[in-house]
Amino acid sequence: MTNTPTHTGRTTRLLHAGAPDLRGGSGPVNVPVVRTSTVRFESSAAHAEHNHRRSAGERIATYGRHGLDTHRALEDAVTALEGGHRAFLAPSGLSAITLVLLALLAPGDHALVADSVYSPVRRVDDTLLQRLGITLEYFSPSRDDLAARIRPNTRLIYLESPSSLLYEVLDLPALGAIARAHGIPVAIDNTWSGGWFHQPLALGANISIHASTKYICGHSDVMQGIVVTDSAELSGKIATAHEALGLTVGADDAYLALRGLRTLPVRLAQHQRHATQVAQWLLEQPQVGRVFYPALPSDPGHALWKRDFSGANGLVSFAFEDAIDARGAEAFVDALRFFAIGASWGGYESLALVAARDRVREHSFWSGTQPVVRLHVGLEEPQDLIADLGQAFARVEERSSIAVEPPFDKLRANGLSTVRPEPVEG
Ligand SMILES: *Cc1c(COP(=O)(O)O)cnc(C)c1O
Repeated sequence: MTNTPTHTGRTTRLLHAGAPDLRGGSGPVNVPVVRTSTVRFESSAAHAEHNHRRSAGERIATYGRHGLDTHRALEDAVTALEGGHRAFLAPSGLSAITLVLLALLAPGDHALVADSVYSPVRRVDDTLLQRLGITLEYFSPSRDDLAARIRPNTRLIYLESPSSLLYEVLDLPALGAIARAHGIPVAIDNTWSGGWFHQPLALGANISIHASTKYICGHSDVMQGIVVTDSAELSGKIATAHEALGLTVGADDAYLALRGLRTLPVRLAQHQRHATQVAQWLLEQPQVGRVFYPALPSDPGHALWKRDFSGANGLVSFAFEDAIDARGAEAFVDALRFFAIGASWGGYESLALVAARDRVREHSFWSGTQPVVRLHVGLEEPQDLIADLGQAFARVEERSSIAVEPPFDKLRANGLSTVRPEPVEG
């Protein structure tokens, strides 16, 4: 984005959004943490007036649950980042998703959902929405004809781009145009870009959802979700459900998210530089069958990514080549020293996880059967990360030349299963 005298650059706007005013003559750089449960009013008339303005749709707090200055500063900053109408905070990314689904869907309604979405969405479907008589139908956003699947009772199209685990990049302008022609709102999970290098509300989506747990907070120390709407009408619907569900976040967590937001562009640029080096190096490894990273020219989503995104993050997945099985993949991850084994991502640190086979199978984007490892490339020196990956590949190589690895052998001798519970989070 270029700076012109009449148009401030996005980074500048991000750094100044929600800054405290200096009406008293001075003030801190950051909005303080304003914690409260009770909001006090100077008179009964003021109380009544606040209640009235809130019921008319204004973002104004009459109770601690609504959040005061810290919450508001974060909401304003994320609204500006997304170019939206209003933002709503939720206690996790998943609760932000559930908020949108419950706000827009009623018994008898149908929604079309990209089959590559963050997997716990399916759990919300199975355990909650089905009980309410709401039908979610999964479709392939790149191969299926969306228009042909729209029913008279379709009330929402739910997407995620790039998708979880394999980073399928969707043609949002094309999908959004179909939805708009049918008068159906589009919600999209924008967690991958942190809101920084993808602006879905400008490309055809009406609601952008974040797990701010990830890059926005950026330090693996907060759980949080954010929903951004593009119109007063959708804000009204989300506000009603947000209130009914009693969703709120602590002021300390709102503060941490706002602090994370200020350095989001710098962190993401570094994640991208490091992840690109790792992804390019992975392409050359004989044990690797396929690398998933939209910034690589060999990635099938590269052209769409180049058109609709201004950068890529630190997530790189790869599938092993045929000779390496699930145990080889686990041995690989277990041999890593700088990549912690864990779900979630978006902090400063590197992570690795063998993707659960059932989760990968949900995505029609790829029909391979080889184990997939998801890496989150952190801010460590990339040469250290590459050396670490190199020694882990060497361990897998050694292992395939011996018949059985001692740990598995020992477990089997003790009659214990080597099957781990399938991780589904993050
Ligand atoms: C992690 C994640 C979520 C859920 O966020 P939580 O804060 O962990 O509940 C939602 N969508 C995507 C794409 C995610 O990666």
